[in-house]
Amino acid sequence: MRRFAKSVTQQEAIGDDAIASAVAVLQSGRLHRYNLAEGEAGETALLESEFAASLGVDYALACASGGYALQLALRACGLAAGDKVLCNAFTLSPVPGSIVAAGGEAVLVDILDDTTVDSADLDRAARESGARFFVLSHMRGHIGDMDAIVAVCESHGIVLIEDCAHTMGAAYRGRPSGTFGKVGCFSTQTYKHINSGEGGLLATSDADVMRRAVILSGSYMLYDRHLAAPAPESFAETRLLTPNMSGRMDNLRAAILRPQLAELERRKARWNVLYERMEKRLADVPNVQRIARPVEEDFVGSSIQFRLPGVAGDVISRFVEGCEARGIPLKWYGKPVPEDYTSRYDSWGYLANTRSLPAADRVLATLCDLRLPLTFDQADCDDIVALMSAAMDEAVQHPQPLSDRTFGSS
Ligand SMILES: *Cc1c(COP(=O)(O)O)cnc(C)c1O
Repeated sequence: MRRFAKSVTQQEAIGDDAIASAVAVLQSGRLHRYNLAEGEAGETALLESEFAASLGVDYALACASGGYALQLALRACGLAAGDKVLCNAFTLSPVPGSIVAAGGEAVLVDILDDTTVDSADLDRAARESGARFFVLSHMRGHIGDMDAIVAVCESHGIVLIEDCAHTMGAAYRGRPSGTFGKVGCFSTQTYKHINSGEGGLLATSDADVMRRAVILSGSYMLYDRHLAAPAPESFAETRLLTPNMSGRMDNLRAAILRPQLAELERRKARWNVLYERMEKRLADVPNVQRIARPVEEDFVGSSIQFRLPGVAGDVISRFVEGCEARGIPLKWYGKPVPEDYTSRYDSWGYLANTRSLPAADRVLATLCDLRLPLTFDQADCDDIVALMSAAMDEAVQHPQPLSDRTFGSS
């Protein structure tokens, strides 16, 4: 059987400019963000000011991970132990994890057929729970109806925190993703849009939130070494009332990220070439329903999703197996057993969810996902879709006994 030879988890190499910056940090020995020579700004502080400028916000904070940024955002916005926090039912496990880590209780909100959050259910969940916070994941880069979402949040006095792990570089009606809520949180983990292995960024224009976030992140009394934070004099109160929850970024990772941030627009264009090619080709695969994207959405196509509505679980299971056998590791959210990265709310038993989420159940049962690393080209996209078509034909026409019984439709 012909196989696709490239790996969907292979990102591009770190560029020479980033490597040179990293080597300079290593040679200096000053890896800690507050370990600065006389007159030196430091890579981490520079990354923060460049990132804030790229979004048009007043403040940015670099930290240990995207999940950590979400935790900080919730705490900095005033979450108290036991507070309810709304969150889309379709997200990645670090999101409910960050809510629990901050002492909150996640309340799941149903989604629409395009996988974005259902603002009518958001309104219901807000009324039922009395939650004061909403962590909105722009999951897999899909940005929902921001007008409706923001309106629901405003009508209930809910603090909106955006999880932009998949929307760094994206916008909605020209406004950067991450600037609709009080705080935007980003990840620089390897599979996101800029890669430092691990890392997170938090963006806000709210001075109170930023002061708390800086101290929470582990600034000690060195907050005056930030370039994208409120004036040091304004920390007089916050500095003695805010715990240090150590989770800083270091200069080495920041050094690798700065040249990548400068490259983001070009990367986005390259990703969208791959996305458009895949999207176009997928139209010819039987049973595949592509996900409609609103004109307001200016996305970064670093992965692609499609649905197989009306296709039985055992057929999807054979299709996914057939793709796997052809070297294409599709993620199928309907898989009964959680594997790999978990994104299905029923894998998170610690949440004790009580809300019924019929649309999430129905949509995720037939939703598939494929990463589009920049190590792919357009010919690869054609190749992948041709192999997927063959797998679909086989799954539909020549049912084989399942090789893995736990893997079927139930
Ligand atoms: C990756 C990711 C995160 C968290 O990022 P980490 O840096 O890995 O903690 C949060 N939300 C979503 C949707 C993600 O994909």
